[in-house]
Amino acid sequence: MPSSEKAQSLKKGLLVMARFNGSVCRICRRENQKLFLKGDRCFTEKCAFERRGYPPGQHGQGRIKFSEYGLQLREKQKIKRMYGMLERQFRSLFEEAERRKGITGSNLLTMLERRLDNVAYRAGFANSRSEARQLVRHGHFTVNGKKVNIPSFMVDKGDIVAIREKSRPMTRIAGALESVKRREIPQWIELDAAGFTSKIRDLPARDDITAPMEERMVVELYSK
Ligand code: SF4
Repeated sequence: MPSSEKAQSLKKGLLVMARFNGSVCRICRRENQKLFLKGDRCFTEKCAFERRGYPPGQHGQGRIKFSEYGLQLREKQKIKRMYGMLERQFRSLFEEAERRKGITGSNLLTMLERRLDNVAYRAGFANSRSEARQLVRHGHFTVNGKKVNIPSFMVDKGDIVAIREKSRPMTRIAGALESVKRREIPQWIELDAAGFTSKIRDLPARDDITAPMEERMVVELYSK
């Protein structure tokens, strides 16, 4: 194999390794919290956390005591995995959050919320963030009428995020819009399910993010 190809495949391999490839339900069990990573299944009795609400592994049912560093690391891993990000992407978003005015932790969370894949999930066009990311990558979305296939694209106030005309008959999207009734759509997003569009009413504020996250711990961890 030529050396450039070798380097390419090594890079690809490292990226695959960096993404969490195990059962996502283990993440919820590890973090001792339902993170809703599997769409509809999370609302049924099949949810692994409901059935086995203790950490996975041989010592999962024993008492696990974390150091301060361990707690900070777990919180960072939880937030990073909730949003399906790689360490490198998460770290550079954190650095961007640090550069912006305001509180770094709040900046980080609101920037995570503004990602197009998250908006697609929050608006109800997909059952999970990973499904939303795939739909975005496959070019099923427009922002203000233009096709956008970058999951990390950050939406702005007033933006219109919509499903492309030709993608509207997809059963996956119809199914997600049907089951969105089980979830609460955040007030900063206005959904028009019949029109397959959503509007960013306002930029999300820290108080709009109700999932339990202690962003302060991420700041402390990265400040070491
Ligand atoms: Fe987490 Fe959903 Fe799996 Fe339950 S079903 S453990 S909430 S990913």
